[in-house]
Amino acid sequence: MQQIKVTPAAVLKPKPDQSKLGFGKYFTDHMFVMDYTDGIGWHDPQIVPYGPIPLSPGALVLHYAQETFEGMKAYPARDGRVLLFRPEMNAKRMSTSNARLYMPEIPVEDFIGAIRELVLYEKEWIPTLPETSLYIRPFVFATEEAVGVHPSKTYKFVVILSPVGAYYPEGMNPVKIMVEDFYVRAVRGGMGFAKTGGNYASSIKAAAEAGKKGYTQVLWLDGLERKYVEEVGAMNVMFKIDGEVITPPLDGSILPGVTRDSVLTLLKHWGVPVIERKLSIDELMEAGENGRLEEGFGTGTAAVISPIGELCYKDKKVTLGGFKTGPLTQKLYDTLTGIQWGDLKDEFGWVMELK
Ligand SMILES: *Cc1c(COP(=O)(O)O)cnc(C)c1O
Repeated sequence: MQQIKVTPAAVLKPKPDQSKLGFGKYFTDHMFVMDYTDGIGWHDPQIVPYGPIPLSPGALVLHYAQETFEGMKAYPARDGRVLLFRPEMNAKRMSTSNARLYMPEIPVEDFIGAIRELVLYEKEWIPTLPETSLYIRPFVFATEEAVGVHPSKTYKFVVILSPVGAYYPEGMNPVKIMVEDFYVRAVRGGMGFAKTGGNYASSIKAAAEAGKKGYTQVLWLDGLERKYVEEVGAMNVMFKIDGEVITPPLDGSILPGVTRDSVLTLLKHWGVPVIERKLSIDELMEAGENGRLEEGFGTGTAAVISPIGELCYKDKKVTLGGFKTGPLTQKLYDTLTGIQWGDLKDEFGWVMELK
């Protein structure tokens, strides 16, 4: 990557109250931008004041959704260090997503370099209260002005930062989940394994309708048979049945989560029986009815671990673990957050210090 050109903001914003950050409501003073032009490659990396991005109304992304993104965090450790969690996995995943959307890949070192420079430049914005962090949102989109469907000749890579609060200020609470048996999120051969806005666009209606019925999120079933469990909302999902943790395999329609991979590694390390296999909704509901469904949870960067307390499928409801956060769910949350915020030993080499 070329030298990053820095243009400081003329006026800095006041910092928000750290106890009221919520998620994704505040943005820092600066952002990273870099352009891509066919025949030249990525060029002109810059840190500029945070603000609107000039875009033609004919920009391809606005019409055909050629776009990808990532989600990660910079964690403030108690000893003052700033930590990233497995950033190379996000970098590689963005390459995979970009390849699927037929967009240029960003070299892993440039992706991480852009984040390092921006986060260090915005260091003052990293909150310090327990379990707060600086959320990092890198994204790439097609900018060419044209309304014919074709791969764009120009793209923009942007990174913005948002200080976020503790996800569970009152402790972890299980949520109610509606099993979605009509809408689907992704199909094999589609874009399910890519982190792209289109997958979210098609999911909003289902989540909104479940919300109106009192459910926090939907459990997605596979797009072919609506038979096998895939993901929960925008998280990967795991269930503990008869002492064994089951999660669906990454076979094309599921997003390969960094948290998912880390949970699988921890479970194997602890000797907890764990298997990646297809899990049908009938098997899951039956385990719930027979009292064999001990725990269930979603995994993702924003919430880390999100316990499931109830599942509703057609006219049946099952409760998991008496609608309480299960012991394994809690242990995974405590261990992962402990490693991420630098309180626990980083046995797996997952943490990268920014300096
Ligand atoms: C981002 C995302 C996840 C979780 O991935 P992490 O890397 O763990 O944050 C899971 N499912 C979907 C659909 C996602 O977009």
